[in-house]
Amino acid sequence: MEETGALGVSPVRIKAAAASASWAKPLGPAPMELRKLVAGNWKMHGLASDIDEIRGIAAASRQYAGVDVALCLPAILIERAVRAVPGFPIGAQDVHQAEFGAHTGSVSARMLHDAGASLTIVGHSERREAQRESDPQVRAKAEAALSCDLGVILCVGESEEVRAAGRAVQTVCSQLEASLPGHDVARLAIAYEPIWAIGTGKVPTPGEIGEMHAALRGCLRRAFGDGGARIRILYGGSVKASNAAEIFSVGDVDGALVGGASLKAADFIPIVAAAAAPVT
Ligand code: PEP
Repeated sequence: MEETGALGVSPVRIKAAAASASWAKPLGPAPMELRKLVAGNWKMHGLASDIDEIRGIAAASRQYAGVDVALCLPAILIERAVRAVPGFPIGAQDVHQAEFGAHTGSVSARMLHDAGASLTIVGHSERREAQRESDPQVRAKAEAALSCDLGVILCVGESEEVRAAGRAVQTVCSQLEASLPGHDVARLAIAYEPIWAIGTGKVPTPGEIGEMHAALRGCLRRAFGDGGARIRILYGGSVKASNAAEIFSVGDVDGALVGGASLKAADFIPIVAAAAAPVT
């Protein structure tokens, strides 16, 4: 039976909620029927004046009980957002792998959890590039977050040059294998985000997305056996209301990580609606 409405994460009961959230149980009756997750990545956008937009997104998302929806916000906005939209999953965009210590400017998984976050992105290409984050570092971040009861969206994706050279699948699978946490993957999701599609308006063909997601599913099955069939694989990169339905109709696409189109409810909610619609 598909779980619905179990994403509620009360700021005072984060741990218990994380354990029972449908985030933690992305299981449908069969691997092809994983409950979809649509997560927004606000990147370095968002001020206190945007809390009303977050309220609007949370309220409108409730109409789509069959889809998990979350917003990954700048760290400084997390606690205010959690208070503003109790029960709606608010996440971070990065986490430090260490528990605590001399890491100026960084935020630990325990701090995120303490602020009320229920998930975090790790390994986004903007961080892999600008902060030179390596696969082992991304794996350590994922493990740190999972061990603090946070859900994790682990991003992988190829550059335009790699795709043009015909090495996209091989490169992204190697990246995934080297970044995967070794344990506790019940709250793990993968986001395939071709770097050349992020913020550009360019999107791979459905065939290219399907080929990559099938290959990633194979990696996950090899790594985790049957558990690998239950890990959601999101697509990310220029997802909009106009292309969401086509992307969600591709096999092994279990949701989306959405950047620019997640900032406004008017752009984001139609994507959630597309995820909720039965595939025809
Ligand atoms: C992202 O950065 O995760 C992303 C998918 O961005 P956009 O939707 O704007 O391409």
